[in-house]
Amino acid sequence: MADKHLTTTNPLTEEVIATYPYMTDDEADAVVQTSHDAFREWRLRDLDDRAAVIAAIGAKLREKKEEFAQLMTREVGKLIGDSRDEIELCAAICDYTAEHGPKVLADEEREVDGANAFVAHAPVGVIYGIQPWNFPAYQAVRYSISSLMAGNGVLLKHAENCTGSGVFLRDIYEEAGLPKGLFGVLFITHDQSDRVIEHDLVRGVTMTGSDKAGRHIAAKAGAVVKKTVLELGSNDAYLVLDDADLDVAVKTCVAGRIYNNGQTCVNAKRFIVTETNYDAFVKAYSEQFEAIKVGDPTEEDTQLGPMVSKPQREKLHKQVEESVAKGARLVTGGKIPDRAGWFYPPTVLADVTPGQPAYEDELFGPAASIIKAKDDDDAMRIANSSRYGLGGGIFSKDVERAKRLAAEHFDTGMVFINSFDVASPSLPFGGVKDSGYGREHGPEGLKEFVNAKAIKIAA
Ligand code: NAD
Repeated sequence: MADKHLTTTNPLTEEVIATYPYMTDDEADAVVQTSHDAFREWRLRDLDDRAAVIAAIGAKLREKKEEFAQLMTREVGKLIGDSRDEIELCAAICDYTAEHGPKVLADEEREVDGANAFVAHAPVGVIYGIQPWNFPAYQAVRYSISSLMAGNGVLLKHAENCTGSGVFLRDIYEEAGLPKGLFGVLFITHDQSDRVIEHDLVRGVTMTGSDKAGRHIAAKAGAVVKKTVLELGSNDAYLVLDDADLDVAVKTCVAGRIYNNGQTCVNAKRFIVTETNYDAFVKAYSEQFEAIKVGDPTEEDTQLGPMVSKPQREKLHKQVEESVAKGARLVTGGKIPDRAGWFYPPTVLADVTPGQPAYEDELFGPAASIIKAKDDDDAMRIANSSRYGLGGGIFSKDVERAKRLAAEHFDTGMVFINSFDVASPSLPFGGVKDSGYGREHGPEGLKEFVNAKAIKIAA
């Protein structure tokens, strides 16, 4: 193992940024043990004390915003503006958690017959997080901050592409006052990750990434009876209903598809448009897609940067080509450009139908799938026919009706009406079906890895 390294590479220049040696099994075990040792003291700190450290982490993130943003853009090719916004979101998560955590996690009196009782939200131990590269800071912050607030220790196995961001975050946490080693970063292979899941001191596993990896990790954790939270992929549908404001729909759906270089779990990916609006939507959408400024992500006016890696670009290109071979209409894009950097052009596929990757699977890059629906009911049916169920959207001028459709019919964890959004610290985030289970953010996220302990005292 000692001769092998994790490597980070700049997607714009294709140049290596840094290498990090893999840990030996003993070194990985030591990271787990150190987190557990720190946890034994951290769990006894009162909620307000823990909240104060979390608030300090938020302040430190803001202080280091520019440096962290530049690092993320170098490692994964994010637009520099998106990187800065990501750090602001992370700081907002810390603010929210520091303010609401102590109330949400406080002891709760409960009524019982013939006794007094309360529920204590006790920490459970060391929580292991396996995270993807598309939000190098946010992905690691969103599970770790709530787990730390709850009194747990936390481990991070980040995606190889953003190893430096994981280390940078750990340093921020410690500079802000988090006990040393409580948040441990692991440089390990997937086989070693299976060992960490099995480690006696690891008490829960949270994973964000593809459903393929999620299945493997949940099975490993299930075999040793450990709770998991899975935040997996999706092909989120945005419905453009008969009475939609077409200008708002087109503009929002373009922005929602290319946000974060098209590589977000909750990007708008499938656009399901009723016959009434279909031709006008395809025309306006494609015109706006063709006008997108592609280029260097460090330049402020760039709208679309490179994809994270060559394999990710190849995967997307294959899905586009297969969709076209199976009958989708390539309206624009679809050709790998002859330039350095892992760029993929803004691509529009129309007349997308069942059996094509653009209909069935997740396209994780700047390629839009437009699907024609007969009417509003048919649009909802198509949206829900997906094996995924993370987020989605509805465009309609009848907001009351859209609210009912969202609450009663949309089979996903999140729905946006006449807008596109990613995450809010106060709202539960997560999916259903192949998009996983469990929630992050809000009171729901704060309680994922706590032991809700019932304590009954004789009257
Ligand atoms: P991926 O599943 O390949 O990798 C994600 C992480 O899991 C990485 O750290 C990777 O090393 C690790 N991993 C993969 N296989 C593993 C194994 N067998 N054992 C241990 N660790 C393993 O995903 P990706 O392609 O890098 O990321 C993109 C995917 O993540 C997309 O499907 C996207 O939708 C999803 N995602 C979901 C959310 C969400 O909140 N639901 C957020 C961001 C990304």
